[in-house]
Amino acid sequence: MGEAAEWEPVPRFRTFELVLARIEEQILAGSLRVGDRLPPERELVELLGVSRAAVREALRVLEAQGVLRSRVGTGPSSGSVITAMPSAGLTQLLRLHIALANFPFDDVVESRATLESASARLAAGRATEEDLARMRAELARMDEPGLPRERFNDHDTAFHVAVAEAGGNRLIADMTVAVRNAVRHTLLGAFHRIGDWEAVAARLRAEHHAIYDAVAAGDGERASRLVEAHIRDFHRDVVGTAREGDPAGPR
Ligand SMILES: [Zn+2]
Repeated sequence: MGEAAEWEPVPRFRTFELVLARIEEQILAGSLRVGDRLPPERELVELLGVSRAAVREALRVLEAQGVLRSRVGTGPSSGSVITAMPSAGLTQLLRLHIALANFPFDDVVESRATLESASARLAAGRATEEDLARMRAELARMDEPGLPRERFNDHDTAFHVAVAEAGGNRLIADMTVAVRNAVRHTLLGAFHRIGDWEAVAARLRAEHHAIYDAVAAGDGERASRLVEAHIRDFHRDVVGTAREGDPAGPR
């Protein structure tokens, strides 16, 4: 007697997913690059042997992912162009997935700590005088007495983004910005639930200044350690406590 036959289900794809796969193949193979134009819609319909609706759906998905920008009208400048806006596309995508709790919140915090400690280390080696001035401007804004929490949060984000971008690694910087923007609402919510805001703000200010000093002194090891502690401590002490008993809070 033979073994029971094993049946694998046949994967079912919607047509637009097949169109997407075709376009992705061309991008991954390097045949489609930033600035290149896709063939017009009706030509894609013929080339791929699919419906116009499927082509349109695929183009919409790529547009939402920030990979494609469509130009309306007719003539040589119409059609869809492959674009480079990784951070906008990535940020949008990550923000939604994190909001939907598709990633456990602890994973998000750990990713922030890992990414930002890496970019702080790079920033300490590579920050230009211009980068440092940008960080100092954000520190100065956060030092203003009586700054509303929402504004504080904006400058806090801008400071972290400035450090990430000073590191000079685009992929790390973009991922840092994406994750940081994704947790913006959570952080702001935590800011608003803090009882003794002034005490927390004072601590955050001191930590930011210490991070800046380490970056400016070119001490990558120290900058990296301080950023990691800054992120982990804040999530443990502030976000963690604030979310207890708050069913709408982050999970
Ligand atoms: Zn901060």
